[in-house]
Formats: sequence, C-alpha cells, structure tokens
Amino acid sequence: MSVVSPKKPKNNKKTATPSKRRRGWRTFLGGPSFFGNLITTVLVFIILMSVYSFIESFIQPNNEIPLSVVAADVAEGKISTITVNGDSLDLIYADTTTKTSRKDPSAGLPETLATYGVTPAELAKVSITIQGQSGFQFWFITLAPIVLPLLFIIFIFWFLSRQVKGAGMQAFSFGQSKARVIDPADSSQRVTFTDIAGAREAKEELLEIVDFLKSPKKFLDIGARIPKGIILMGAPGTGKTLLARAVAGEAGVPFFSISGSEFVEMFVGVGASRVRDLFQLAKKAAPAIIFVDEIDAVGRVRGTGVGGGNDEREQTLNQILVEMDGFEPTEKVVVMAATNRPDVLDPALLRPGRFDRRVTIDLPDRRDREEILKIHARQKPLRPDVMLAVIAERTPGFSGAELYSLMNEGAILAARENRKEVTQYDLIRSIEKVMLGPERKSHLLSKKEKELTAYHEAGHALVSSILLNADPVHKISIISRGRAAGYTLKLPFEDKKMFSRKQFLDDIAATLGGYVAEKMLFDDVTTGPSNDLTVVTAIARDMVSRYGMSEKLGPISFGERQLGNEPYSEKVAAQIDAEVSRIIDEARARAIVVINEHRVALDAIAKELIEKETIERSEFEKILIANGITPKKRDEDQSVVV
Ligand code: ADP
Ligand code: ZN
Ligand code: MG
Repeated sequence: MSVVSPKKPKNNKKTATPSKRRRGWRTFLGGPSFFGNLITTVLVFIILMSVYSFIESFIQPNNEIPLSVVAADVAEGKISTITVNGDSLDLIYADTTTKTSRKDPSAGLPETLATYGVTPAELAKVSITIQGQSGFQFWFITLAPIVLPLLFIIFIFWFLSRQVKGAGMQAFSFGQSKARVIDPADSSQRVTFTDIAGAREAKEELLEIVDFLKSPKKFLDIGARIPKGIILMGAPGTGKTLLARAVAGEAGVPFFSISGSEFVEMFVGVGASRVRDLFQLAKKAAPAIIFVDEIDAVGRVRGTGVGGGNDEREQTLNQILVEMDGFEPTEKVVVMAATNRPDVLDPALLRPGRFDRRVTIDLPDRRDREEILKIHARQKPLRPDVMLAVIAERTPGFSGAELYSLMNEGAILAARENRKEVTQYDLIRSIEKVMLGPERKSHLLSKKEKELTAYHEAGHALVSSILLNADPVHKISIISRGRAAGYTLKLPFEDKKMFSRKQFLDDIAATLGGYVAEKMLFDDVTTGPSNDLTVVTAIARDMVSRYGMSEKLGPISFGERQLGNEPYSEKVAAQIDAEVSRIIDEARARAIVVINEHRVALDAIAKELIEKETIERSEFEKILIANGITPKKRDEDQSVVV
C-alpha cells in the first residue's frame, strides 16, 4: 500500500553500513574442514602408494632368479644371451625362455660370474651386450625417490593453504591493501566516457584529470598543480564508481580501488596499514588512480562517536589524510573518492590539498535517461516498436543503475517467453518491477483485504487527483508487489529538481489518503499504511528541520540530533516535533475533506479496482469524468520526443 512517485529529496540517508566481515574462531583456525582435508590427503597418499607398487609388480615379472643360478646355467651352456642394463640382467636361454636377475651394480658381469666359478671359456659361449642406461632413466631412478615425496609434500601444503585462505587466512595478510587493480591493458574491464550517458558537467571536470594522467609532464613543466583529491558525490546508482573507472580507462592508467567499508576491520590499525600499502602500490605504478568508494564509511566527522569503537575508523581516516599530505607535487597519483552522504564527511577531508575538487552527479533527467537506456540496449535486440523515449519519460527519479536493471529485466522477460527481441511492453512491465519489486500473484488477498486495499489505493488516487499540487495518477493496482499490498503510480508533469512547500503539503495529504479512506470506511486502522506514515513523517520533518518551511520556526536548518551531537536544545526539539505533528494533522484534515466530498467517486474507483485489480490512467480518468472531476491535463505526446 504505497503511493509511488518520483523520489524527492527526502532523507537520503540510505547509506551502506560498513559490512564488517567478522569470522568466528572456528573457521579462522580452519575449522573441522581442516582435519577433514588432512585425512583426505593421507588417504590419497596411501592409495597412490598402493597403485605404484601394484604397477611396479607388473613391470618386474617374478621370473627373477638368483645370481648363483645364472652362474650355474652359464657354466652348463644353457644361456645364449645376457643383456646387462645397469644392475639388471635379462637372460635369454637356448630354449628361448627369458628370465631376469640382478648383480652388484659396482662390479662387472664377468668378474661377478668368475667369483661364482664360471671359467672364461664357458663365459665366451654367451653373447653379452651391455646396454647403457639412458640419461633420463638414470636421473629418474636416482632422483624420483627424493623429488616425488618432496613434490607431494609441497602439493599438500599448497592444497591446505588454499583451503585455509578461503576461511580465515586473511589474518596473515593483515596489512595488505586488498585493493582491486584494473590494469589498463585489460580491455574487458575497460570503461570509457562513451559508456556513460549524461553527467556532462562531471565528465567535463574529469577530463582535466584524464589530461593530466595522460601527459603529466605538460602540466608539471609549467608548474601547475593538479588536484590530489576529487570527490564524487551523488545518489546511489548515479554512476560514481563507473565514472571513476572511466577516468582510468580514458587515461590508460592502473586503477586501484577499495571500498571504505573494507578498511573497517576487526583489528585496530589494520585499516591504516592497508591505506599505507595501497598508496605505496599506487605510487609504484604511477601515473595511477586510487579510488576509495563509499568513503563516508571511514570519513565521517571524527570525535562525535559515543564510547569507543571509532578508533579504527579515525586511524584509517588519519592515515588517508597523512598519505595525501605526503604527496610530492610531482606525484602522478590522483585520489578519487565517492560518497552518497557528503553531509557527514569530516571537514578535514575537504580541505584544500586533499579532496578539494567536488564533482556532483545528479539523477539523470529525461534526456539522459533515454541516453542511458540506449547504452544498456546496445547488446539487446529491440523490436522496432520500442520507444526508449517513452520509457525514459515514465521513469523520473530512476538512477542509472535502476535504468540498467530495467533494461535487464526487460531482456529477462523476453527470454523467458522465448522471444528473440525485447518489446516495449517488456520494458513497461519492468518499470514497475524495478520500482516496487516483483508481482506477487500468489499473494492472495481475502475478500475483506481486497476491499480494504482497493479503498486504500482509491483514497491515494482520489486525493492526488483533487489537490492541485499533487502529481497526476498514472496507474492503480491492488496486485501486491514487493512489500506493498497495492500501489498507486503517479507521474509528475516534468522532472523536478526542486519541490515547493505546497507540493510537499499536497503530497503528504495524498499519501495519507489511503489511511483516511480505510479509517472512514471500516472505522478501523490496519498495519497496511505503516510505510505511508513513515514517508509522511520523514517529509514533514525535513520540511521543518531542513528546508525552513515552517512559519513558526523560520528558515533555520537544524541538523540531526544525536547522542553526543546536540546542535539545538530540548526545547527546540520539542518545537520541531510539534510542527511536524501540526503539518501532518492539517494534511489529514484536507484528505478527509476531499474524501467526504467525493465519496461517490471513491466508491466507483474502489469497485473498479476490486473487479479489475489494475486500472490504467485512461480508465481512471473516465471514472473521474463520470463523477464530475476534471482530470489533470497531461499531454504526453507533447513531451515525448521520438
Ligand atoms: P554508484 O557508484 O554511483 O552507486 P555505479 O557506478 O555503481 O553507481 O553504477 C551502477 C551501474 O549503473 C553501472 O555499472 C552502470 O551500468 C549503470 N549506470 C549508472 N549511471 C550510468 C550512466 N550515467 N550511464 C550509463 N550507465 C550508468
Ligand atoms: Zn498506501
Ligand atoms: Mg558505487
């Protein structure tokens, strides 16, 4: 049960919490699997040994006779030929049977036989050939007993260490940077500016860095100092990481990347040593780019943490600052960083000589969205009916990453239906999927729930259609998707970068429309609208504390109040709370008025929803007109450039 409209600059506090990879001691020591592997290895060894001796017994057939018998047979003239091969003797008898024997390797055959009493005359009747051992055979026979076990032991160590590494060997590689490196020669990983649509200003800014990395001498000769640090700021999925990689790709320099959250480890000091290591590596490879993704994970304002636990982060941050300060002016290493929370960064990071260049990347506007869609449609065959412009128009607030996944979902839909081309309908369906999660057709509502959801969504849709500053309704559905039982899609007239107080107020009223309708009809409240209430409260709070939209408190931006960081008093906090409540109460009152006044229309929308489950804009507008409400004008064709 949610109203879906393009993302507003609500509280963009969606930040990645540092994912500390902690491991238990069991796996750290290798755990039970370590001993399992040892047993396997020993078993393999035993099997190999038995196979070896088995084969050996084949190679040496058991018709070996003692030397004394050989001597006797020679004396009796039974043997016609003896072939000497090292210490082994191949005997061929006059009756063509063959036998083998062995002699002392240090003594010659005639001497040996002489000691057994064979006379030279008797020996002369036997033809003796001495076959030299081939060099390879000799070395193999002498070295194999030493080398083979050695190889085997090395193999065991390699095998075990590989297993252990998977589990917890990291403890042994503590201070290594763990950075991923993208080699400029690796064309499969290479990203260039042509892979990025929109973000024109950002690209322009970064072109300078590319120039410098390509021909640093030109800049250094004239005494120009190139910024050491560039920080990319923008909402998640706007292509910050991609842009940083593209700078490396364009300049053809190695790209060392690490994520801020990876610095935060369980042992204090590890992060700092990783930083040192990373900078060292990059300097060796200069010209190069160091990229610290999600720098807010380490770069938050220092000294505000309550209690301990932040030492590690602070040390890591300090080390980054120290390394950047220690750069020689001739160093050809550029540090780039990305964050979606520039507001929480430590000011020390942004000081001149550190990350003093700031590049902001906005969510793409309609034209950029179309370009991004085109980029991601490159390898996907599209049916000629596909109009990416229309898709771009219907996806305000989508980030580059969301557009990418929209295209991908479209292709998946086509593939699942065994089609070779992606159609417009595939893409349209994907918009909602990306926005709200997959449809949950199996999630069947009871009759009562269905009615409730229908009235809830009808409430949103009706209030949105009546209030002047709310966005027009595009689609209503009571098919559950993701966590929502139903949804009302709204589309603004144009991409908005700024929002007015009136828009916020109407938006809050429309979002409360669902709650109000439920309460009015069923005289009860369900858990359904809880998300609506969260959204409403967040907007109202931002209006008061961030945008100065409260008459009473005036144009003051109040920061966040946390334990240990209290930029304003209890009293002001209470005033803010009171203003938030007042805004919400007034919006609710307006929603009640609208729904009371247009009760017949509400019933009609809900009835249609129960019957059809999904209503598109044209059907919805017919219901409005039938009830004497003029739909908001929205000339789609005008804004679509085909
Ligand atoms: P961020 O680091 O800002 O969260 P990413 O750089 O990881 O975002 O972007 C994720 C993906 O979204 C990229 O790999 C790319 O496929 C797509 N994307 C984002 N912005 C753009 C853009 N401007 N042009 C083309 N693709 C984009
Ligand atoms: Zn709702
Ligand atoms: Mg990123």
